[in-house]
Amino acid sequence: MASNITLTMIKPDAVAAGNSGKIIDLIIQSGFKIQAMKLTRLSKEKAEEFYAVHKERGFFGDLVKFMTEGPIVAAVLEKDNAVEDFRKLIGATNPANAAEGTIRKLYATDIERNAVHGSDSDENAAIEASFHFAGVERF
Ligand code: GDP
Repeated sequence: MASNITLTMIKPDAVAAGNSGKIIDLIIQSGFKIQAMKLTRLSKEKAEEFYAVHKERGFFGDLVKFMTEGPIVAAVLEKDNAVEDFRKLIGATNPANAAEGTIRKLYATDIERNAVHGSDSDENAAIEASFHFAGVERF
């Protein structure tokens, strides 16, 4: 299968806790190539846009508040089967249900403050990569 991509964000909880380096190392050691990466901060408007699919959910306001509370690390990752393999590496949304050794098991606090984002489909990976990066920022 041809290499494809996924979009990750190391969320404000994990950046503030100083876990970005360990998480990036785990991602590289798991076979992902970094196409693009930056430290950035989402505005309220951009966080609402990124998570628009969840806007009717009860936790939407809390999620937007959390995702804008501090800087994030956004990255485009390349690997065969990138979306599925990265979802396996990060583990379940709720760290209480995440498998041993997964990023969320290692670094997440709870179902909201769960350390990392990973795209859920190839289609969304392409949309999310373009959300964070211009073509000239990807290698
Ligand atoms: P993901 O694809 O595993 O990130 O999970 P979802 O797309 O379902 O949810 C997006 C993000 O919203 C999650 O990563 C959490 O940060 C947050 N979230 C999901 N479910 C809940 C919930 O029940 N309560 C709260 N407070 N946050 C949630």
